[in-house]
Amino acid sequence: MFEFTSIEQYHAQLKEGKVTCAEVVEYFLKRIKACEHLNAFIEVFADEALAKASLIDAKLKKGESLGKMFGVITGIKDVICYKDHKISAASGILQNFTSLYSATAVERLLDEDAIIIGRLNCDEFAMGSSNENSYYGKVLNAKDETRVPGGSSGGSAVAVQAGLCMISLGSDTGGSVRQPADFCGIVGLKPTYGRISRYGLIAYASSFDQIGIFGINVPDVTLALEVMAGPDDFDSTVSHSPVPAYSSLVDTNEKFRFAFFEEAITHPGLDPEIRSSIERKIKELKEDGHTVEPVEFDLLEYLVPAYYILTTAEASSNLSRYDGVKFGYRSPNATNDLDDFYKKTRSEGFGWEVKRRIMLGTFVLSTGYYDAYFTKAQSVRKILTEKISLIFKDFDFVILPTSPVPAFKLGEKMSDPIAMYLADIYTVMANLTGCPAISIPLFAHSNELPFGLQLMSNRFNEVSLLRISGDLLRKNTP
Ligand code: GLN
Repeated sequence: MFEFTSIEQYHAQLKEGKVTCAEVVEYFLKRIKACEHLNAFIEVFADEALAKASLIDAKLKKGESLGKMFGVITGIKDVICYKDHKISAASGILQNFTSLYSATAVERLLDEDAIIIGRLNCDEFAMGSSNENSYYGKVLNAKDETRVPGGSSGGSAVAVQAGLCMISLGSDTGGSVRQPADFCGIVGLKPTYGRISRYGLIAYASSFDQIGIFGINVPDVTLALEVMAGPDDFDSTVSHSPVPAYSSLVDTNEKFRFAFFEEAITHPGLDPEIRSSIERKIKELKEDGHTVEPVEFDLLEYLVPAYYILTTAEASSNLSRYDGVKFGYRSPNATNDLDDFYKKTRSEGFGWEVKRRIMLGTFVLSTGYYDAYFTKAQSVRKILTEKISLIFKDFDFVILPTSPVPAFKLGEKMSDPIAMYLADIYTVMANLTGCPAISIPLFAHSNELPFGLQLMSNRFNEVSLLRISGDLLRKNTP
């Protein structure tokens, strides 16, 4: 029976003829079918994946050259465009909308012969931390089906966790790749803002959004990053700084300098077991010859409020385009009055959480409140970014928990949006500052749920981040 452990091992098996790509696609299609109840996939591109696999098998047979990601079974979050395929952002308002073009990230994976196996469930417009806000229903955590997989990229996380694809793409605006990776016991990377083009990624909060990668190990995530990163004429915010050959750089035994915030680790909201695991890890890192030092950090309580003010403001503007005229759903109940048409379409098309955020964002941008909220939150973002830049003058990484709690029960936080928002306390920092960050599955809770260690590095220092993550995960495996 086929077993996926890494892209490298899979490629070796294909080259040695131990398995064909078509057999592997069949294997994954069967697994997807067997795990349908997890609700990770919104749509599976079965025929197309099989057809691509046959082409790859034919090329392999002829000894023709193939791309770096040949045959890699990849799932994409339903906010990333794939030409001529449906995309909905898990929203009723984008029902039956078809992508007119592919996201640059998808285009680059396809250019390297990856196979896109389907689109993955998520919170509507990537707003949420539990994947319970989807038009297509909630996603279940495969480790414990009574619990959430995290969000908003819950389907992407579960697809990798349950072995339904090899890697998957998510988007991370405030933690939506790292937090579900933490809840599902897999690797989740949010690259530097501007490292991967956002062209073809449905916008939630444009100055925060970044495509991220899920995998079961660091080298797979590294390879996908290498393929997708880099300049793109279609995204003016993407960085032009050269993309290192990440996959050839990751093996090392370098000694690094880690900072941690006492305020973050002793926070009363942090699960005591998560706290003690991180404290133990700090000790181990020191024993291993790394430098680990506390740094004073007094901005923790400002992060979630600043994040939710700025992202809802951006969302209220970004989502104004869904008016029933240009895209998707159009209310059948509207009269000829244009205001009524907009109101009914948007009221019926959007879910509750999205509506809450559009209203919140509109409020913080309104004339009377702009300075009190939006301007203030912008100042917090600036102060935080300056503080983090100073820290990275002396340190390579900041150590943080990914989430204050492991995967919570389905429904547990749905009636209390503030509690749901506060759980983003450790992940939003990387998005507010544009830094890359990763969640590495190093720990297990006494309730058997996995959880991760979060590391954040300076902007465009993915190389060090991937090096240390690979090292830590390798050493962690018994
Ligand atoms: N939980 C956060 C939010 O709801 C993060 C979402 C994301 O990263 N897309 O905004």
